[in-house]
Amino acid sequence: MEDLIGKILNTAKSEISSAASLKSLNDVRVGFLGRNGEFTAVMKNLRGVPPEERPLAGKRVNDAKDIIERLISERERALADEELRQKIAAETLDVTLPGKRTEYGSLHPVTLIINEISDIFTGLGFDVADGPEIETDKYNFEMLNIPKDHPARDMQDTFYITDDIILRTQTSSMQIRTMLAQKPPIRVINPGKVYRADFDSSHSPMFHQIEGLVVDRNITLCDLLGLLGEFAKKLISKDAQVRFRPSYFPFTEPSVEADVTCSECGGRGCQLCKHTGWMEILGAGIVNPKVLENCGIDSGEYSALAFGMGIERIALARFGISDMRVIFENDKRFLRNYR
Ligand SMILES: [Zn+2]
Repeated sequence: MEDLIGKILNTAKSEISSAASLKSLNDVRVGFLGRNGEFTAVMKNLRGVPPEERPLAGKRVNDAKDIIERLISERERALADEELRQKIAAETLDVTLPGKRTEYGSLHPVTLIINEISDIFTGLGFDVADGPEIETDKYNFEMLNIPKDHPARDMQDTFYITDDIILRTQTSSMQIRTMLAQKPPIRVINPGKVYRADFDSSHSPMFHQIEGLVVDRNITLCDLLGLLGEFAKKLISKDAQVRFRPSYFPFTEPSVEADVTCSECGGRGCQLCKHTGWMEILGAGIVNPKVLENCGIDSGEYSALAFGMGIERIALARFGISDMRVIFENDKRFLRNYR
C-alpha cells in the first residue's frame, strides 16, 4: 500500500512539473484525482487492508492527494504567469522601430507654373477654360487666318490624324471656340497641351501653352502692354518690365514678341538670359479683324488682344532646368525637388 502511494506520488510529481500548459495540467489532475483516476482505484484497494491499519492508510492517501492538489495549483500559477509573460512579450510595442512613412505626392513643375499663371489672371478678372487636344484643322488653322497652303503652316510641324483632324499645335484654337460660344466682353485664358513633331533638348513633341484673349470695345496695343506688364510684375518681381519686338502671326495684326525681365538676374544679364537681361516668353498682338469676323464678332464695334506663352520655357527658367526632356521623364527623384 505504502509502495503504491509513493509510486503514484512520484509519477504525479513528474507529470505535474512537465505539464507545459494549463490544459495538459488539467489532464494530469483528472488522471490522478478524477472520478476514474488513480486514487479511486487506491481507495478501492483499502478494503483489502487489515481494519487496524485502515485509518493510517486512509490518512496516507488523503495526504498524498493534498500534496498533489498543492503541486497542481502551484504549477497552475506558474503556467498562468508564464502565459501572461509570453502574451505581453508578443504584444510589446517597440518605440524605437521606425514608423510607417507616409508618401506625399507633389504637383508637377508644369502644373505649378500653370496654377501660378492661372491665379495671376483670375486675379485680373479672367476665366480659365480648357478645350479639346484633338482639334479640327478649321479651328486650329483656317479660322485663325491660316488657310491651307499658307506659309505660316510651315512654322509648325503638325501631327495629322486625317486631312481635317489634327493634334492641336497651339492653344489659339481656343480663341475660336471661345468667340463662337460667348459674346463680348470676353476675358479668358486657356492653359493646355499642344503637339508638334519636334524633339530635342529644347523641344518636346507635347508641351503646354497658355493662351489669353480679351475681346471688348476699344482694345489697343496699350492695353496689351499694360496687361502683360502687370502679369510680369506678379510672375517675376515688382520691378519686372515688358518690352515688345515686332513679330508676325497670321491671327494678330500688329503682332509682337513680348520679352519680360529675366527672373534669374533681374535684368542685369546672366547665363539664363544669354546676358540680354530679357526672357522671350510671350507671343502676342491685336487680333486680326478677319478672325473676329470669322467668329461672327463685328470688328467695327469690337477689337481684341491675344497672347500666348510656353509653360515649359517658364518652368525651365524658374527651376533652373537646362533640358526640357527631363520634365516629362517622370523620374520621381527629379519631381521630388519641386514639392
Ligand atoms: Zn538673366
